[in-house]
Amino acid sequence: MASVKNTAIVLAAGQGKRMHSKIQKQFLEIQGYPVLYYSLRCFQESPLIRDIVLVTGAESVEYCKENIVEKYGFTKVVSVVAGGKERYDSVYAGLCACCDCEYVLIHDGARPFITEEILKRGLDKAGETGACVIGMPSKDTVKLADDQGFVGSTPDRKSVWMIQTPQIFEYSLIRDAHESIRCKDMSSITDDAMVVEQETGVKVALAEGSYQNIKITTPEDLFIAEAFLNSAENIQK
Ligand code: C5P
Repeated sequence: MASVKNTAIVLAAGQGKRMHSKIQKQFLEIQGYPVLYYSLRCFQESPLIRDIVLVTGAESVEYCKENIVEKYGFTKVVSVVAGGKERYDSVYAGLCACCDCEYVLIHDGARPFITEEILKRGLDKAGETGACVIGMPSKDTVKLADDQGFVGSTPDRKSVWMIQTPQIFEYSLIRDAHESIRCKDMSSITDDAMVVEQETGVKVALAEGSYQNIKITTPEDLFIAEAFLNSAENIQK
């Protein structure tokens, strides 16, 4: 394992407007620890990860260094860099800060509940194909709406996956894809797989995450997160 060259890019530069909180959601506490702490801890403890690049708001770089990285002893964090206006800008900033890495795992810092098993499944698949996104089959029926607010179509639920992070790529593949898409209209880009889908011929594999791998987005997600942490199998502290 000493030779792994896998870098985790952890994104924490969002404003989190849907949380309606003065504190950005990645810094809100669940069971006494910031949301961001939990995924950083997983990457820190994983033998599959060599180092971590943390992306946060320009105004939060010093805060993160002192109150997250140093405070909790996340020694694998090699740089804390300022993100950008959109998620893909923050990803690009993270990619530029990576050094000599083979695979990159791009992860939303707002998803506290990743596990070593998820990282392993994703890296195994990415090793076969070069690109893999974590997700879970949809439990709900999904409808595509038309312009007038009516149901346009109903995709077969068996082929609908709800996409999570990490999204895992060969470094040169995702870096080149980002370089080539940056001069184009990126307004519809909501994840990293889309960049690879649009800019390269590489097919992106799917690997199972978990139904607990939620993104903290709105206030009720904090209650759900507390409940997960209270359940016996999740008490790891
Ligand atoms: O806004 P959303 O919930 O989709 O954000 C997903 C993740 O991307 C969060 O962890 C957020 O902090 C991060 N993000 C970012 N830079 C942005 C927007 C979002 O790092 N400009």
